[in-house]
Amino acid sequence: MRRIAPLETAPEAALSGQVSVDLSAISDNIKALRKRTDAPHFMAVVKGNGYGHGLIDVARTALDAGADWLGTAQLSEAVALRRAGITVPVLSWLYLASQTSATIREALEHDVDVSLGSVRQLEVLAGIARHVGRPAVVHLELDSGLSRGGARKEDWTGLVARARAAEKDGTLKVRGIWTHLAWADVPAHPGNAAAVAEFEDAVREARAAGLEPQLRHVSSSANILDRPEFHFDMVRAGLAIYGLAPADHLNPADFGLRPALTVTAPLVMVKKVPAGIGVSYEHQAITHEPRYLGLIPLGYADGIPKGISGRSLVQIAGRRVPVIGKVCMDQFMVDLGPDAAGIDVGDIAVLFGDPASGAASADDWGAAIGSHGDEIINRIAPRLPRVYQSSAYECPDYQEEAPSHVR
Ligand SMILES: *Cc1c(COP(=O)(O)O)cnc(C)c1O
Repeated sequence: MRRIAPLETAPEAALSGQVSVDLSAISDNIKALRKRTDAPHFMAVVKGNGYGHGLIDVARTALDAGADWLGTAQLSEAVALRRAGITVPVLSWLYLASQTSATIREALEHDVDVSLGSVRQLEVLAGIARHVGRPAVVHLELDSGLSRGGARKEDWTGLVARARAAEKDGTLKVRGIWTHLAWADVPAHPGNAAAVAEFEDAVREARAAGLEPQLRHVSSSANILDRPEFHFDMVRAGLAIYGLAPADHLNPADFGLRPALTVTAPLVMVKKVPAGIGVSYEHQAITHEPRYLGLIPLGYADGIPKGISGRSLVQIAGRRVPVIGKVCMDQFMVDLGPDAAGIDVGDIAVLFGDPASGAASADDWGAAIGSHGDEIINRIAPRLPRVYQSSAYECPDYQEEAPSHVR
């Protein structure tokens, strides 16, 4: 038998689509945002796996860059931060209040602050806190018009009174009062000022009832950039720390912010096709002259929206080329034009990234499907490998159990 030389292999990430995360962009964005606020505290919102950028990596980078709070929607993500050895205060705001919830118990044991928006939630938290043996630390949420979580104005008095009673019996500690604005992404909307006035009334009422909230917080990214009078004691920054536009009129680059996430894929096939042929399912695109097509190995299973068909969003060899035909589950085609000189299999296509490089941004992709960049980055599938390009911190080994969090 003939001896065969061993195959040389490259990491799979280089051969398929990949998500590159530039942690130094997140770090720089947070430093730029901190300069825009006098609020003493800065929460980096890392829900949704750090908006798809990676929960723990984003969290560590954010803390290194000057954030002193972390925020998640789900309790399980807050507990994951603790398991990674992160001890700074963490607030979580979305959970099913059930007396038998192991997740709530675990969160309270790990010193996760939780949002509280109803007497029903309070009874559950207080009951679990009794078992855990220390008070649940909560941030009372006012529903100032979003009609999502939180207590409405007419239910506030009852909630505040019950919270004060629970503080006295040692099952609760109110650390904060907060709200999330219905017009959060339209900073100039008069609804914001009205909601903030309602919020200030709610804080006043809580204090009159004997509560001593240390932290009032209202603003997410758009209002961090545009409405300093809404910053109070802490701001909650999501989109802006990832370098995406928090509102249509706020261009991240104008504030020194840049996207941290780039999605690329190699061309896996380049082929010449004649005029008059249909491309992809149902032949929704027909070539009108001989063209070169490129095959990109990403599809809607990876989070590529079908609505980008026909849009010039993909950068190859310094050119923006259109997506042609229907996006398939794992692949789609691009139209490289009548001449593909200089383009070959293996060339890297940039789907989106930092617009300063000439590539489309996630915000451009969002606009193409009638949405925003946040929907694009959050849809990118976990199956795509994440590659961390530059790290602003030394990543210590994860610890199994978090040390007790010192307040
Ligand atoms: C997502 C979220 C934020 C961050 O919003 P961005 O617009 O991404 O900055 C802040 N607060 C709450 C309650 C949120 O759900």
